[in-house]
This record gives sequence, structure tokens and C-alpha cells, in this order.
Amino acid sequence: EHILEVRDLYYTYSDGTQALKGLTLGIKQGKTTAVLGGNGAGKSTLFLSLNGIYKPTAGEVLFKGLPLDYSRRGLKDLRKSVGIVFQDPDSQLFSASVYQDISFGAVNLKLTKEEVRRRVNMAMEQTDITHLKDKPTHCLSFGQKKRVAIAGVLAMEPEVLVLDEPTAGLDPMGISEIMKLLRKLQAQLGLSVVIATHDIDIIPLYCDYTYVMDQGKIVLEGNPKEVFSQPDDIRNVNLRLPRIGH
Ligand code: ADP
Ligand code: MG
Ligand code: MG
Repeated sequence: EHILEVRDLYYTYSDGTQALKGLTLGIKQGKTTAVLGGNGAGKSTLFLSLNGIYKPTAGEVLFKGLPLDYSRRGLKDLRKSVGIVFQDPDSQLFSASVYQDISFGAVNLKLTKEEVRRRVNMAMEQTDITHLKDKPTHCLSFGQKKRVAIAGVLAMEPEVLVLDEPTAGLDPMGISEIMKLLRKLQAQLGLSVVIATHDIDIIPLYCDYTYVMDQGKIVLEGNPKEVFSQPDDIRNVNLRLPRIGH
């Protein structure tokens, strides 16, 4: 049932900051899981631990029941299976065209040219950006750049799609469009989707399960309806959530 499992995870940065302090959670196969938490809760650190970019200080991460393999080969396989879309799309997009930006990850998988082309075309269709393929990515809107970043990860054909604050910086229309797109991808491709967010409102609408994170730990979890029917608990966490932006 859980495609990814995190068990009692600790992560301490080299400057001594303890970002994760005994965090346990499970990511349900084929569902959308939200990790809700304010700034500094540890969401980004957790996400970078899910595909092996960060090696835990203690505890473990399991993919399909097996502990992550941190060898070079293991990490390469992991990055194919667990794709991450970073919060800032510009950090993943730097080529001359949308098409090239989307191909970047797939090209590194040493596939045939035809297979890369097939995957990139498919990813552009799935994210509704085929008409943008020859444009330079830097001239697109923020919401379009987000789609390019998502398409680049889809072209690697991941099983888990992890998105760090996919709605940050978008207006209400952009937020509902991106969340509907993620829902569609989850259903059509059988993807397991994980999002980090500050945005409480999107969770009951677009997510199947939610964790609430504070100071490097999970403080609350459940189906969105259950979690949001605990007003005292959610209000305590809420106090730390910023009101605007991030
Ligand atoms: P979130 O994504 O929920 O805002 P982060 O995972 O970015 O939280 O940060 C968790 C904690 O780790 C914060 O206290 C943050 O300041 C700290 N932190 C994040 N990145 C680094 C880093 N590279 N070096 C040192 N501390 C960091
Ligand atoms: Mg943040
Ligand atoms: Mg973050």
C-alpha cells in the first residue's frame, strides 16, 4: 500500500541545524499525499531525502519495501523512480527551448533518440504544453514554467512524483489548474503524488491523505476531513503558517 516509507528519520545539516527529528510517514501508492507545514518545518529537507539527494543522519527511507541504495548506481535508479519537481522552476530549466528542457532528464537515461522523442512528446501532451515546444522557457509565465518542470520529470517515467510547493507563487486560477493537472496525472498514469504546501485550502479538494509537519516531525495525520475536523490541533499548527506567499 505504501510505495515510500520514512521511518524515524533524522537529518542534521553541516552547520548543526536539525531539520528532521524522528519523522515517520508513508506515501500511499496511486494517491495524492500532502505534507502541510510552515516555513522551516523541514518539508524540503524531507523531500530531498525521498530520492536519496540527502542521506539521513539516522533512520531510513524505503522504496517498495527496500531501504534506499545510496550507491551511485542505486541513486541513478532512484532518481528515475522518484522524480522531484523543485519549488523554483528556474532551477530546473536552462535550455534554449521548452522541448530541450523537457528532454534533459530523459537524455541522461541513455535511451534511444526515438524513445526520448516519444517520451518528451507524451509528457508535453500530458501537461498541455505541446504548443509551447519551440519557445524559450525563460519567456513563459510562471505557471507554464511549472508545467515544463513537471513534464521534464514525467519524461523520466517516474512512479512517484514529488512536488515541493507546486502552488506557491500562483494566483487562485493557476493553483486550481495545477492541482487539477496533478489529479489527472495521478489517475491516468497511476502515479503516486506527494506535495508540500502551505496552502490548507487545496488539501480537502485535491488530496487523499495529509500529514501536518512542524519542527522536523509529523504532528498530525489522516484523511483531510479527519484532520480538518480537529480545529484545535490544526489551529496550533496554523499559527506558524505564513499568511501570504512563502
Ligand atoms: P521547509 O521546506 O518546510 O520550509 P526546510 O527543509 O527548507 O523547511 O528547512 C528546515 C530547517 O533546516 C530550517 O531551519 C532551515 O533553516 C534549515 N536548513 C534548510 N536548508 C539548510 C542548509 N542547506 N543548511 C543549513 N540549514 C538548512
Ligand atoms: Mg518554504
Ligand atoms: Mg521548503
